[in-house]
Amino acid sequence: MWPSRNASESVTCLACGKQVSRSMAREYDKHGDRWDRTDKRFEYCCKSCHDDLCHYPRDELEALLIELDAGETDRDAFLSSYLEIVEERYGTLEEEY
Ligand SMILES: [Zn+2]
Repeated sequence: MWPSRNASESVTCLACGKQVSRSMAREYDKHGDRWDRTDKRFEYCCKSCHDDLCHYPRDELEALLIELDAGETDRDAFLSSYLEIVEERYGTLEEEY
């Protein structure tokens, strides 16, 4: 049922731009539905960025990323508006620790 994967294929982390092998990456579907695979290309996060993302509730994160046009906007512009919005809604990251 699952297409076989080439473990040595590498993908680019959508958050930090690092190349990671696909088997080490986490699939990220900005539409929040990883099970509907028809006509889709998934984006990937490296493990550490994926772990970072999980500090926030998933539901809100999906909405946030869609709102910010993740993957469609210039990465620097995306990251700065992402940080801005996260700070606005959740407080500065430093307060988390
Ligand atoms: Zn990353």
